[in-house]
Amino acid sequence: QTTTKPPPTPSPLRNSKFFQSNMRILVTGGAGFIGSHLVDRLMENEKNEVIVADNYFTGSKDNLKKWIGHPRFELIRHDVTEPLLVEVDQIYHLACPASPIFYKYNPVKTIKTNVIGTLNMLGLAKRVGARILLTSTSEVYGDPLIHPQPESYWGNVNPIGVRSCYDEGKRVAETLMFDYHRQHGIEIRIARIFNTYGPRMNIDDGRVVSNFIAQALRGEPLTVQLPGTQTRSFCYVSDMVDGLIRLMEGENTGPINLGNPGEFTMLELAETVKELINPELEIKKVENTPDDPRQRKPDITKAKELLGWEPKVKLRDGLPLMEEDFSLRLGVAKKD
Ligand code: NAD
Ligand code: UDP
Ligand code: UDP
Repeated sequence: QTTTKPPPTPSPLRNSKFFQSNMRILVTGGAGFIGSHLVDRLMENEKNEVIVADNYFTGSKDNLKKWIGHPRFELIRHDVTEPLLVEVDQIYHLACPASPIFYKYNPVKTIKTNVIGTLNMLGLAKRVGARILLTSTSEVYGDPLIHPQPESYWGNVNPIGVRSCYDEGKRVAETLMFDYHRQHGIEIRIARIFNTYGPRMNIDDGRVVSNFIAQALRGEPLTVQLPGTQTRSFCYVSDMVDGLIRLMEGENTGPINLGNPGEFTMLELAETVKELINPELEIKKVENTPDDPRQRKPDITKAKELLGWEPKVKLRDGLPLMEEDFSLRLGVAKKD
């Protein structure tokens, strides 16, 4: 039998007069793609102070340049696999490479980031009485045998494959979150994020949307990995950030799927990018990597009911916004 303990009292510092009106928020991985968009939104609220902790493995200070020097903003070079001592009210824990080429580059580091990194952030949440949100992933469903995937599905994950450092790492991170919740009364939130895209993605990070847009702008063939019939569902980053904040501010622990249910095969995605950016492009079929999930689409019933959230931006509207950002960064003139 499990007992849920009451949440720990916030540290005395947090009860001081100064802090009562302000919310101090830690964003780990805040220099990355989703993290930096989240920071932008949090900083819009003048009652928020934001601290970003990031080791810049896949993120960059550039993503946060408009906030550096701002009195309500602080940036710390920090690796979450090491303990961190700060006084905060909320923790958005995003630190972890998200693109397969980066998380497979140093798999031992990836699993340490997921397991030890999450343990440290939970220890911190426990000490200061903060609420903590973990950005988990649709990859916890592995190569799913149920379609679309509801949160109640336990998944079909290879424990010893090349993606396991990420998939299993996030699964352990979720377990740690629930164990700290049950054992220590920590207030937790878990988002299971499905493929997200938008401006500021790493140009060469290997994910499919960033690859196709960069290839299209460079006039290179679009590399569709075989068989090309595998599916993904792509959520625009502003919708994702909205969902994350609603989850943090709401009353439900989750896990809650956040993603756009619009499902596309990789061939359809390539055709769409071709049509929007350059109809002359060639589509080239290339080898795939092991354990690539064959289908993925979120069941977002829970997010709709519990958070009143659903994505607003359609793929056809989001891709041109990303094209604009990539054209600027690649120094390629946008065609009329
Ligand atoms: P990203 O790679 O752009 O951002 C991750 C950030 O974490 C980077 O700034 C990186 O430098 C930092 N980081 C990595 N390891 C760290 C460590 N040990 N210590 C401190 N900082 C570290 O990726 P993203 O797309 O912004 O993903 C953010 C989060 O969302 C991740 O937790 C990821 O697993 C999750 N997620 C993303 C997607 C997606 O489609 N983008 C899908 C599912 C889940
Ligand atoms: N931790 C941290 N910051 C804190 C408090 C804890 O990084 O403010 C780390 C701590 O180093 C430990 C982990 O979080 O490795 C788990 O902490 P907890 O107190 O739950 O466990 P314990 O220290 O008793 O193992
Ligand atoms: N993919 C592709 N071409 C690329 C990169 C990826 O066809 O240049 C495919 C990949 O095989 C997978 C899907 O796109 O089926 C999504 O891959 P991504 O790495 O973006 O994210 P994942 O969902 O696998 O984490």
